[in-house]
Amino acid sequence: MSERRPPRSAAHELERYDGLFASRTRVMRSSAMRDLMAVTVRPEVISLAGGLPDTSTFDPALFARLLGEMPTAQALQYGPSEGLLGVRQAITRVMAAEDMDVDPEHVIVTTGGQQAIDLVTKTLVDPGDVVIAEAPTYPGAVPTFCSYEAEVIQIEMDADGMSIDALEETLARLDREGRRPKFIYTIPTFQNPAGVTMSLERRRRLVALARERELIVLEDNPYGLLRYEGDPLPTLRSLEVPADSTEDNDFVIYAGTMSKILSPGVRVGWLVAPRPLLAKLILGKQASDLCSSTLTQHFVAGYFASADWRAYIDELRDVYHRRRDVILDALAEHLPAAASWTRPHGGLFIWVTLPDFINTTDLLARALAENVAFVPGEAAFADGRGQHSMRLNFSSEADDDIREGVRRIGKIVAEQVSMYEKLTGRPGATAAGRAATAVHGGAGGAGVERGAAENTPTGDALPANVLELPRRGATEGRRSRGA
Ligand code: PMP
Repeated sequence: MSERRPPRSAAHELERYDGLFASRTRVMRSSAMRDLMAVTVRPEVISLAGGLPDTSTFDPALFARLLGEMPTAQALQYGPSEGLLGVRQAITRVMAAEDMDVDPEHVIVTTGGQQAIDLVTKTLVDPGDVVIAEAPTYPGAVPTFCSYEAEVIQIEMDADGMSIDALEETLARLDREGRRPKFIYTIPTFQNPAGVTMSLERRRRLVALARERELIVLEDNPYGLLRYEGDPLPTLRSLEVPADSTEDNDFVIYAGTMSKILSPGVRVGWLVAPRPLLAKLILGKQASDLCSSTLTQHFVAGYFASADWRAYIDELRDVYHRRRDVILDALAEHLPAAASWTRPHGGLFIWVTLPDFINTTDLLARALAENVAFVPGEAAFADGRGQHSMRLNFSSEADDDIREGVRRIGKIVAEQVSMYEKLTGRPGATAAGRAATAVHGGAGGAGVERGAAENTPTGDALPANVLELPRRGATEGRRSRGA
C-alpha cells in the first residue's frame, strides 16, 4: 500500500491558489456560528452559541409517519424553483398566524432563511452598494453582505429596536453624498442577536419612511411566533398592506423560515416579495440551486397537512420560555454588576454587555477551555464593534446545562475583572466599568436587567441604551472590514 502524502500547510495551499481567487473572496468573512459549530458538537461542550432549536422535542413517531407517507417518486424528483405548492400554501398559513394575508403565488421557497438573505443581496447589491442593518445584526447576514461586497452601515438600537431617528440621519447623510441604500435589513421581532423588539411606533415610522423614500426593507422574521410574554405586534409587512387589502406590498420583502418553528434540518425558508422583484429572485435561485430539497419540502407539506403544527409551536414556546427564565436567573446570579443584558420577550437570544476592558473574542478562547461557548459580539458587526458583548442562546441546552454554562462564563468574567483590578487598582466589578450604558424597558421590547438609568462615569457618557451603542460618526459609514 502506498504511503499517504503528508498534508501541506494551509498557508502554503492558499498561496498556490492565490492568483485564482475572485476579488470578492478578499472580503468574505467566515460565519462565527458555523466556525463554532465544529467545536460545539463535542458532547462535553455546553453551547450557548448557536441558535439551535431543541429538535429533541419533535415526536419521533410523527417523524416516521411523515417519512413513510411521502410520495416516493415525487419526493426523489426535482421540483419547481419557486417551491412546491403544498409548501407555499403551508407558508401562507404560518404567515396568517401573524395576521398576514399572502397569495401562495407570491411566495418563493428558499433553502432556509439564509438563502432568502443571500438571494435578496444577490439580486439588489453591486460591489460598494450600501446595505443598512441594525447594530448589532444577525451574525449570519454579515458574511452574506460581505460576499457581495456591500458597504454595511449599522444603525444603533435600544430596547425599542432600531432607532429611526438615527436611520433618518444616516439616510440624510447618504443623500448629501448622493447615495442611496439598496435595502434596509431588519429583524424587528425578538432580534437576533439583541433579543429586543421594535416598538409599534417605530415600525410605523419605518414603513412610512420606506414608502416615502421608496426604499426596500427586508423584514426577517424567524422568531415572531415564539413569544413568551406581551402582545404580538404587527409585522412591517402587515403594516404596509393590511390583511383585508387587495393591494400588493411595494417596499417590504418578507423572509421567514421553518427552522425555529419546525426544524432547521429541513432547510426550508421563504421570501414574499413585491411582484416585480419575484421574477429576478427566482432567476437568482435557479442559478444557486435549481430548487430547494424536494424531499424535505414533501416532509414539510405533509406535516402541515396532517399535524397540529400550532400545538407544536405552543410546546416549543413553553420549553423556551422556561429556559429564558433559567438563563436570566443564572445571569443575575453569576455575572458581575458591571455587566448588563437584554430581557427578551421571545425568540432565542440574550445580548450581554461586559465591562469595556473585557474583549469577548479573547474571552471565548478561555470559555472554550472551560467547555462552554457563546458568540462573541464582533460577529454581529461588519466593522469590528461589539468587542465587549456576547450573544447567548437559551433554546438548545437543558436547564441545568444552561445554569452550568452561565456559571462557567461568570467564573471567567470574574477572573478577568479581578485581573483588571489588580493591574489598574480600579474597581472592575461595579457598574463603573460597564462598556455600555443602561437602559430603559421599551414597550414592545426588552428591558435590561441591571443598573437601569446609570450612565458611564466617564465624560463621554452615552445616551441611555440597552446595547453597546455605536459611537456615532466614529465608525458609521466605514467600509466593511477588509473591503
Ligand atoms: N435570519 C435570522 C435572523 C436568523 O436568526 C436565522 C437563523 N438563526 C436565519 C435568518 C437563517 O436561518 P435558516 O437558514 O435556518 O432559516
